[in-house]
Amino acid sequence: MELLEKLCRASGISGFETEVQEIMKKEFEKSCDKVEIDNFGNVIAKKGKGKKKIMLAAHMDEIGLMVKHIDKRGFLNFVKIGGIDDRILMQQRVIIKTKKGDVKGVIGAKPPHLQKAEEKKEVIKHGKLFIDIGAKDDKEAKKMVEVGDPVTLEPNFGKLNKSIYYGKALDDRLGCYALIKIMRQIKVKDVTIYAVATAQEELGLKGARVSAFKIDPDYALAIDTLVAGDTPYIEESESSLELRKGPAITIMEASGRGAVTHPKIRKILINVAKEKKIPYQIDVLEGGMTDAAVIYISKEGIPTGVVSIPTRYIHGPSGIFSMDDVNNSIKLVMEALPNF
Ligand SMILES: [Zn+2]
Repeated sequence: MELLEKLCRASGISGFETEVQEIMKKEFEKSCDKVEIDNFGNVIAKKGKGKKKIMLAAHMDEIGLMVKHIDKRGFLNFVKIGGIDDRILMQQRVIIKTKKGDVKGVIGAKPPHLQKAEEKKEVIKHGKLFIDIGAKDDKEAKKMVEVGDPVTLEPNFGKLNKSIYYGKALDDRLGCYALIKIMRQIKVKDVTIYAVATAQEELGLKGARVSAFKIDPDYALAIDTLVAGDTPYIEESESSLELRKGPAITIMEASGRGAVTHPKIRKILINVAKEKKIPYQIDVLEGGMTDAAVIYISKEGIPTGVVSIPTRYIHGPSGIFSMDDVNNSIKLVMEALPNF
């Protein structure tokens, strides 16, 4: 759990993944034959010497904010990096990652007492929110932070009950953790496994695009998180995924705009899960996609699949997941790979 906690607490908004990159590189170096950071910031680890190439991908980046402007009174305006619901931002504690170190802040807004009746009815958009760093004025604020500094939601991680945990940036540090574990345990025979911790997934699957081009694998798997639908006010028809019920095997993402899992990969994953008695769930996604969406259309087309860990409150300050699902995802990928 220590490694997973470290990964979740690390900061890495898209394009600023250095902290996570360092952890991934160090961990891969313990078990892989070669580890490199490419031009784009992806960490690519290689194990084995076989002709057949399999690429595993999990993204390092997380959603966050960036300082856009510092106003006269020392408050910070910001832009959103990645898909964040404005409703989760108000009153969040954040960390601004500056050149000189971490600066703490609280996201503020006009308080309800001062809002007019019509203002109260509306969600306060992020353009009307600001980060309060306790600065006296712009002069002081500019000494503390700079325009362009990345901002993350405050790191948190802990246990709720039994195998159920909460934490920041579960999407996709859970996948990063799985990658490390898989590379540690996997025995390679007549195959080369490439584990790629991808950069800038949340900004359009960019790191996966360039690394798939470079590696040109024969097969690929993305390991990511997926919205669980086992909480109040979600209809079963909207999402039937549940925590504790095992990894999700995706059939299709974003109604077909994302990855369409190759029939061979889909068959292997489902058969292996059945044979090895690994719990699994089938997922058809109406919205949302993963690195698999660009890997599978790379070069001349690459048979690709997606194994996802069901996670509650994705893209929020604290998600919730089951460690059993994480371990079963690792097991499923480990057992499936020799069949590729
Ligand atoms: Zn993700």
